[in-house]
Amino acid sequence: MARKATDCRDTPSVSGCSLYISGEEDEVLRAATAHAVDVHEHTDTPELREEIRASMKDPLPGT
Ligand SMILES: [Zn+2]
Repeated sequence: MARKATDCRDTPSVSGCSLYISGEEDEVLRAATAHAVDVHEHTDTPELREEIRASMKDPLPGT
């Protein structure tokens, strides 16, 4: 079972957000999309979801 992660610290435009999300790809995509809309004032579009999916990486050990 491949887990993926997103890390707001990877995105320089984000103002001080350090949220780290890891889990299965669909779970991360859903949570990261909700977070981007809620906190970063993005609009939930297919393009946003593609950006998030593209930014996913392998999770850190132990996460
Ligand atoms: Zn964030």
